[in-house]
Order: sequence, then C-alpha cells, then structure tokens
Amino acid sequence: MTDGKKVYTDTELLELQIQRYRPRYLKDESEFKKCTTNAARMNFFLNQEEEVAHIKSKIQQIKPHVTKSDVKASELRKLGNVQFQNKSDKDALILYTQSLSFAKSDEEVSVAYGNRSAALFYMGFYEECLADIDRAFRHGYPESLSAKLFKRKKDATKAYSDRKKVVKVKTYEIPQSEMNPSIQSARNCIEIQANEKYGRHIVASRDIAIGEVLAVDNPYLVELQADMSSDPFLFCCECLKHCYNVIPCLNCNEAYYCTEICRAKAFQNYHKYECLILPYVGQLFGIKFDFWLFSLKITLLAMTEEKNDETMYRSDRYKEISELEGHSNADPPEQTYVLTLLSASIFILIKEKIKIFKEFEVFEEKFKELFLYHQQVFKVNAVTIVSWHGNDKFYTSVTGLALYSLYSLFNHSCYPNTFWNTSGSTMVVRASLPIKKGEQCFISYGPYFAYDNKTERQERLQRLYRFTCECRACQENWPKVTFSPASVDCKFIKQVIKKLTENQALPPPGYILSLRKGLEVAYRILDGTS
Ligand SMILES: [Zn+2]
Ligand SMILES: [Zn+2]
Ligand SMILES: [Zn+2]
Repeated sequence: MTDGKKVYTDTELLELQIQRYRPRYLKDESEFKKCTTNAARMNFFLNQEEEVAHIKSKIQQIKPHVTKSDVKASELRKLGNVQFQNKSDKDALILYTQSLSFAKSDEEVSVAYGNRSAALFYMGFYEECLADIDRAFRHGYPESLSAKLFKRKKDATKAYSDRKKVVKVKTYEIPQSEMNPSIQSARNCIEIQANEKYGRHIVASRDIAIGEVLAVDNPYLVELQADMSSDPFLFCCECLKHCYNVIPCLNCNEAYYCTEICRAKAFQNYHKYECLILPYVGQLFGIKFDFWLFSLKITLLAMTEEKNDETMYRSDRYKEISELEGHSNADPPEQTYVLTLLSASIFILIKEKIKIFKEFEVFEEKFKELFLYHQQVFKVNAVTIVSWHGNDKFYTSVTGLALYSLYSLFNHSCYPNTFWNTSGSTMVVRASLPIKKGEQCFISYGPYFAYDNKTERQERLQRLYRFTCECRACQENWPKVTFSPASVDCKFIKQVIKKLTENQALPPPGYILSLRKGLEVAYRILDGTS
C-alpha cells in the first residue's frame, strides 16, 4: 500500500539527496577527496563538532510514535470489522494485522487473532486460520465469545481436509551425493578459480547440460522492501516467506514474521538493536534507505558471529561477505560524500540510542568503517527478488533485497550461460546453455542482449558495477530481439527454429538447442516436476 505517493527506489532517493547537498559538497570537495578510507570519510563528518551537536539535537527533538496501545489496536480492529462486513476480506486481514501489532494486553491480542482467523477462513487459508485460532486461545480469548471460535475451528479443520490438491512451490534440493565438497551451496559441477582478468570466478568442473542445477543458495541476509511490495504486511522480514498470518515484533510496528521461530532468530541476531532506532530513522531525514538497515544488520552480525575458519566457501558466514567488492574508490566522490554524510548521522543515532559500543566492546572505528563499507557492498551486490504467492482467490508479490555471496562470484555476461530464479529467498542457479568443462559460468546482473542495446547495457554496467562488459553479445554487437508476447505461439516458435536452422551464420551456437531446451526446462519448473 503506497497511498498513491510516488515510491522512489534507493538509487532515485540517493540522486535527490545528491542534488540537495550539492552546494555543501562543492565547499568541502577538495578536503573530502583527501579521505581515501571509509573510516577517514566517516570521521570527516564526525569530527565536525557543530555538525554532531546539530544532529544530536535533531534526534532529541524526534518524538518516536507510540508502538503499543490497546486504544489504537481496538480502533484498527473496528476498522477491520467494517471491511469484513463489506466482504473486503483482504483489507480486513491487513487491518487486523495492524491492530495486532499495536495490541498490548492479552485480551486485545487474543481478539485481534480471533477476528483475523475469520478473514483467513473466508479467504480460504484454513491452515493459517487454525494457527490464529490457537494463538487466540493461548492469549486467553474471552470465554463469552469462545463458542464462535470453536465452531470456526471445526469448520476450518473440515475445510482443510476437504480442500482440493494444493500446488506447493517445489524447491530443488541438491542430493547429498552431488554436494560440492568446497562450496557449501553448490552442486559438484563447478569450482572457484581466480585470475587477474576476472578475479575470483566460477568455472564448470565437468560438462553441464542445459537446465542442470549448479547451486541452491540461501542469502546471508534479506531486507524486505516494504514500500515496493504490494502488501508489506504479508511477508516475513527474516526469511521473506509469504504469509497471510504474520506475527508482529513485540516492541515495534515495523517488523513482522512468519513464525515465532523467525521472530526469535531476528530479535536475537539484530532486531533487538534495529528495533530501537527504527522509529527515528525515517524521521531524521524524512527518508529511509533500505541500505541503512541492511548495513546495520550486517555490521551487527559481523561483530557477533562466531569465528569459523573452515576452508569451504560458505554462504552463511560473514567472511565471504567481507571479501565482496564495494567499489568505494570507483564511485563518484559526490555520491560517496552524500552517502557518508547520511551514514555519519545514522551512526550518531545508533550511538545515542543503542549504546552498542559498551555492550560489544568493539572499537567504534571498526564499526564506522564497516557501516559505510556494507552500504557500498549492498549497492553493488544486493539482488532484487520478486516472488508471487497466493491461492486461487488471492495472490500478491513481494520485493525483497538479498545478499548471496556465491551469486557475487559469478561474472556477468549479457548472453549468460546460467540463469536463476527464487522460491521465497532460496535462489536456484541453472545452466541456460550447455557448458563445457573448464568454461566460465556467467550470470546476468540485469542487462540481457535480447532486451537492451549494447550502449544501454554498457552504461548500466559501468554505472552500477564499474566494468566494461566483453561478452560475445557486446563484442559482436548483437541486435536486440523485438517481438510482441502475443505473437509467441507454437507456430511462431516453429518459424523461429526454421529460420535459425536455415541461416546457420546468424544464431550463436547452441541457440536453437537452448530455445527448445529452455522451453522444456521452463515447462518442467512451472509443472513442478523439476
Ligand atoms: Zn520467516
Ligand atoms: Zn521491533
Ligand atoms: Zn555484455
């Protein structure tokens, strides 16, 4: 829900801030350019006493909004009841979830769960309905209303067992016997190599057929992009799992989870700190960047994670993240200036509100440096993931950002030999072309030769990732593919294959095969048989 306001991406927001601070940058430019490390950049602002005092007084003036209030919970629940009576079940459900996030007393919590179970029942989410009924009873649902809830439990149990076959999204799992001994999330068909031209990169250690799975990776960290999602109250902030009966953080109204397990894990690892600054972040500048929260989380994890010296390349360890490229010296200085200025203010906020440095006994200097570095890593390496969920009546999409350390080892090609898709936040990488033993495996960071022309692709790759692509499509300047989706039918595909077969000089080798095989793989994935 965006209230019809324009939703800005982080890149657009940053551009607006750059314009806003331009006069200040021009004044500081020569001094700032002398700072070559992230710690020095942060200190450039943090050593300006007047600036620090100004930010501190701004923080003091912010009145964090009330996060738990039975009065507010009851108001929202009643609004939910109106929507429910109007048969707007989904709107009712969201209002009940918001009511839950404000509810303070057991009574208010239990009634909100009870009411939400009704909306879930009518939406056909019987399993979720039963879970909410249990939660309502656990929180001491009023006895005077219990009869209704017992009846709903009976009806939902029956409906649940009577329902037609449910299509569950299947996630591929690498069989034990095919696991890669040196890369945690990979199949035993790739390896990491390094050279001067490509840095560390992924190479096939045997011939790989089209459609074969190369890796099943889980992110080190995710960030739900609430503003970009169609429904921010329907996703778990910890695992991005889609969920119609999320449970709120016990302290704030800004984090929701699929289960008590995810809530406890997030709270233990980072949310207990994040929760303390969330009410201030947006108000300090009137904007909130995803990469601030992401960076705070990751910096906290970096400080607290247990050391593990295993030689295997692990997706669940900070060490791999710490080796990712941030391009801090390749970014335009003006962009770095604004990013640092804002980060320094957030750093003051963290110091004021979390008292983190006493607890961890960490050096502030290290924290400052990492806090900025992780934002740079995030800008370069975070992957946007979108997934669709629902039943036959309701569906919705989530946009989240995730950081996968293995994904970041794949180099880019505009004509890649692998592709990826996600289920929840699990990423599956497959071959989109046959890959010979010893060949490098490429992924696309976004631009494909078929959709964008060479100039557009090169401009984007240079701006975001600071490199010039030398893939075959770029070297040979392949033309963009233009067709309207409506014309893609069997006849059309047959014609394409015929044309490609007739004109051997035009298509890149493997193209015909990959077209046919690609369709087969897509079909098998959609059919759930792969
Ligand atoms: Zn979860
Ligand atoms: Zn919270
Ligand atoms: Zn290219």
